[in-house]
Formats: sequence, C-alpha cells, structure tokens
Amino acid sequence: MCNDIKNNFEYNLKHIREGDILLAQRLARDGQRPCRVIITCSDSRIPEEMFKREFLGENFVIRNAGNALDDYGIDTLTFAVNHLKIQEICIIAHTGCGAVRVYSQGLMHEFPHIYNLISQNIHRARDIQDLEIANAVGLARRLKERFSNVNIKVYLYDIERLELRNIEIIGSLPSPYRQLSHHQETL
Ligand SMILES: [Zn+2]
Repeated sequence: MCNDIKNNFEYNLKHIREGDILLAQRLARDGQRPCRVIITCSDSRIPEEMFKREFLGENFVIRNAGNALDDYGIDTLTFAVNHLKIQEICIIAHTGCGAVRVYSQGLMHEFPHIYNLISQNIHRARDIQDLEIANAVGLARRLKERFSNVNIKVYLYDIERLELRNIEIIGSLPSPYRQLSHHQETL
C-alpha cells in the first residue's frame, strides 16, 4: 500500500485527463481563485479529494490534527480570506478523531498544543456534548469573531459510513443541538 510518492505521482500523471493538464497550466499562469477554505484533520481516512469537482484550484486546504488552528493556521486563513478573497470556510470534523481523544483523555503533557487548542474550542461550544462536533463548532465561533464577513459551515464526516453531515451554518445552532444550549450563544 505504501509506494514511493514519486512513483505514485508518475502513475497518476499517466492517467490524468487532458483537460486537467490544461487547468493546471491555466492556474499556474493566471493564479489561484479557490472557492472555499477547507479546515480538516490530518487523519488519512478523510477523503479531501471527494469534497471538490475540479482536479485543482477549488479548495484551499488547511489540515492539522483535530482541525485545530494555531497562530500559523490563523495566518494561513487570513491570507486566504484577505488576499485570495475566499468567502466560505468549511470546517470538517470527523468521527474517531485521535486529536479529540487527546483532549478527552487529558493527554496534555504529551500533546500540550493540541490539548490547549481543542480545549479552547470545546470550551466555546460546551453546550454541545459530542466532542468532535463541539471542537469544530467552537472553532467556528472563534473564527467568526475574526472573519465576520465570511460564511462558515461545519460538517461531520463519518469515516465508517462515508457520510458528510451538515452540522452548522454560521448564524444558528444546528437543530439537533439547539436544545442542549445553555447559553443561547449565536454566531
Ligand atoms: Zn482527527
């Protein structure tokens, strides 16, 4: 299963469509104009390529354990919003997330940065009981303060069922979780 990546690349290049080569060349010449930012976990079970229709140029992707954004990630996002003029941020949490487990098991000494970032998110969404969803919604709430004019959507990807569930679009809590709200906090 684990081939050399150059072999993988050359294999895939042989099977690429002519239109995709032209697309790559056009993007190289004219610059990128992505439709959205995707913030998701580094987990290899998340099929990022299934969240787009085009071969290249559609998704500006930030991947980090637990879809956590540190200061560097925030700068990356700032570039996407301010300079690439992207108007939509999609945060994709997933089931079985090891980074969220770091938080739930209190492994703060081994993974202090992951633990701290995820605890900030979950603190912001403590009205939501599912930790993977709370982590993503909490991040959305934090990002909304900084990127107030951008549409932020939260999804949960189920790695076993291969399902992408809508969780939240900025401005309202998702209906299954509305009754769990203790704070009436809106985005
Ligand atoms: Zn994960």
